[in-house]
Amino acid sequence: MERELRLTAELVPSSTWYLNLRNAVPQETWDTIRRGTYRACGYRCAVCGARGRLNCHEVWAYDDESRVQRLSGFVALCDWCHHVKHLVHAAGLASEGKLDFERVVRHFMRVNGCDRSTFEEHRERAMEAYRRRSVEEWRVDLGAYERLVPR
Ligand SMILES: [Zn+2]
Repeated sequence: MERELRLTAELVPSSTWYLNLRNAVPQETWDTIRRGTYRACGYRCAVCGARGRLNCHEVWAYDDESRVQRLSGFVALCDWCHHVKHLVHAAGLASEGKLDFERVVRHFMRVNGCDRSTFEEHRERAMEAYRRRSVEEWRVDLGAYERLVPR
């Protein structure tokens, strides 16, 4: 059993990478959500408490039985916590020389107070779920936010 980690990867299946709220609503609507999220989080990263540049992260819940990916809310994250959430994307950036992946790993270890093997175990577990979910078809449910999508 994996112990409770403060900062975890939340890998979106590759089959739904672009089916997010951000891409479905006008920029203006997204800006309102984004700013509201930063305010609600006290203008700090909700995981590590860092100030400075923030990202509005969409939090999804996966029902592996019915294959429904549901948007449950938003959270403000610093760049490094956000890179951990999207570890596959981060690895892609690193392979293009645009990101120091080791810094992402160090951030994970620092925030979670854990060692490298805990990171590797977590990554393996997250990647396993990612690969399994990526070959399946998902119904994306925007939940309460569906009404924000223009018809
Ligand atoms: Zn953070």
